[in-house]
Amino acid sequence: MRVSGVVIGRGFHWEQKRDLTYSGTMILRRTHTSSVLINAIKAEEYLKSVISSEMNVGAPLEYLKAHAIISRSWLMRIISATEPRMSEHISEPGRVLSYTQSDRHRLYDVCCDDHCQRYQGISAINSRVDDAVALTRGLVLTDADGRIADARFSKCCGGHTELFSTAWHDTDYSYLPAQEDPWCNPAILTDSERVALRHCLKDYDCDTDYYRWHVHVPASLIERNLREIYGQSIGSITTLEAEERGPSGRIRVLRVHGTDGVVTIGKELAIRRLLSESHLYSSAFTVTPTQDGFELHGRGWGHGVGLCQTGAALMAIRGHSAADILNFYYPVTNITSLYD
Ligand SMILES: [Zn+2]
Ligand SMILES: [Zn+2]
Repeated sequence: MRVSGVVIGRGFHWEQKRDLTYSGTMILRRTHTSSVLINAIKAEEYLKSVISSEMNVGAPLEYLKAHAIISRSWLMRIISATEPRMSEHISEPGRVLSYTQSDRHRLYDVCCDDHCQRYQGISAINSRVDDAVALTRGLVLTDADGRIADARFSKCCGGHTELFSTAWHDTDYSYLPAQEDPWCNPAILTDSERVALRHCLKDYDCDTDYYRWHVHVPASLIERNLREIYGQSIGSITTLEAEERGPSGRIRVLRVHGTDGVVTIGKELAIRRLLSESHLYSSAFTVTPTQDGFELHGRGWGHGVGLCQTGAALMAIRGHSAADILNFYYPVTNITSLYD
């Protein structure tokens, strides 16, 4: 079935509409406020779409296999729901603390966008994607106790991965360490690797250099977002100050000073939401005041926890296997078959 005008990248800087084709069964559910189109599909078929939506299908097979294993792990954790999903939304005068580990959806298991995993239909699936899913059929990452690992991933860590607790609740996992990642640094790329890397990522994922970036944020935008998103008014914004940072440099708690008060805001996604029309690339930045706002010099795209898609792509380009890639980004895990 072909569906016109599906919004992808919702709420992010690359949001756009695409016409997408789906297999499986389509179910139209009406609620009292809207209609929802639900696609019922087998898990392994779902994964083929995810692999071809998260990455360019020209990527090396070992990269696609690594992603198939972590995307399957993520899916199986969500639908088996062995742990409660933690979220917190506190907005009181002077303090905002907001994060969502992963919302349960009410009418369906997973949504089609970055909130869960990108799922953009079947058009991009090719034989390499078929192979990547078939060759890893039923394989998931498990932790030392045999539980399916929470295999987080982001687009570019910026040279250092981040702890789970910087983005979500105050727990850390031994298989999600904060460690240096030499693989996503564009300075180490040869010319041919730079071309190969572009064949690993979607065109809208290489629009800019996410390893290091800078943006200008007007103070008026921060004042508006504070008021409209978080219900806080502290006058004209004067200073942005990192109160707590994670090991990658991502700010966990940001202190915002205004002429009429101070607000602290966390965690990383809430900070990114505050400082952009959509979402800032990451919360790993330093601040330089300008006449009408702030110049932010930052690193990375996304929360930086777990696998760095850009770094993993270069590992595969340089001949590393899916197991090598997963072993680097998720140490002390095992690759386990769900069917054993
Ligand atoms: Zn979702
Ligand atoms: Zn990285």
